[in-house]
Amino acid sequence: ETEDGKEKLSKMIELMDGFKASKVLFTASKLHVFDVLRSSKTGELQAEDVAQEIKASMKGTERLLEACVSLGLLQRTGKGILSQFLTLHFLLSDGPLSLQGYIQHCNELVWPLFTHLETAVREGTNQHEKAFGKSSDNLFQDAYYSRHEVKLRFMKAMHSIAKVSGRDVATAFDLSKYKTACDLGGCTGAMAYEFAKAHPGLSVTMFDLPEVIEMSGHFRPHDADDRVSFVAGDFFKDELPKADVYILARILHDWSDEKVHILLSKIAKACNPGCCVLVSEIFLDEDRKGPSRGLLQALSMTEGRQRSASEYSLLLKSHGFTTAQVKHTHNLLDAILCVAE
Ligand code: SAM
Repeated sequence: ETEDGKEKLSKMIELMDGFKASKVLFTASKLHVFDVLRSSKTGELQAEDVAQEIKASMKGTERLLEACVSLGLLQRTGKGILSQFLTLHFLLSDGPLSLQGYIQHCNELVWPLFTHLETAVREGTNQHEKAFGKSSDNLFQDAYYSRHEVKLRFMKAMHSIAKVSGRDVATAFDLSKYKTACDLGGCTGAMAYEFAKAHPGLSVTMFDLPEVIEMSGHFRPHDADDRVSFVAGDFFKDELPKADVYILARILHDWSDEKVHILLSKIAKACNPGCCVLVSEIFLDEDRKGPSRGLLQALSMTEGRQRSASEYSLLLKSHGFTTAQVKHTHNLLDAILCVAE
């Protein structure tokens, strides 16, 4: 019983301090601490070298580095501070598995929203207006895309998650019999390129709002596959490109059931029998007890909601799609494949 009590106490401590740990990660990432350590010749630096490089106080830098060591983000060696090899590829600002875009999105957007969580709970609304002084009736056009730097930051965040999870989503199911796919709300194209890479016979059309498509050059990979093409439009209003596979990665959680039905009915109309819809999201457990990652994200959402695989399955069923397979990838996003009858 005492062991159990101790475990519960340490859980409490972890939760009380969790926000400090997150902010240490956000700050070290924003100040490029991990990039600085990687680019040093030896990979090892003294706190004062780091302070100089990141143009910060010695005292503050020392504290930040020590906190990072305690959290397992950095290592201390006999000679100085060293990057932690196991997490480094996520923490650098470039590289195929960089999470920096998402980390900065958490710092600049999600953090301010969460400082108003109490009001969000009382009112049942996202606190965009309180946090940023601007209402956001239309999440994407008003909140994310009205300012260039905010749009770029949002796109970098989506890009980093899509790069880290894209391969697992793209290879979750055998799509070899399909020739064309359309990634609806594909943002930077990262997911579309992963699908093209994983399926040599598949051409992928990336469909997103014009504000997003105009920025796609910024995220184009060096070895960009010409089987990926870009189409601008609004998936609630405009005609959808014809495809055998419709990909909805992190789209449906942003919308109410009502809006999801509008979108799915448009997809159903565009689909021939045998065509399919691939939905990729964090799937809640059927009893909604977890995972916390999905339930915590829901707290700053506007009109959307998090759903379980069977809830997605039911939504799709009402538009004539039968669930063929569900895949828990153990990466950031799971996937479900539903085929048109
Ligand atoms: N699918 C991408 C991924 O998984 O990385 C991005 C997901 S992001 C949460 C949602 C995307 O939907 C954004 O790129 C946004 O621009 C796009 N979107 C939102 N409303 C849209 C609309 N009405 N028509 C087309 N795209 C839209």
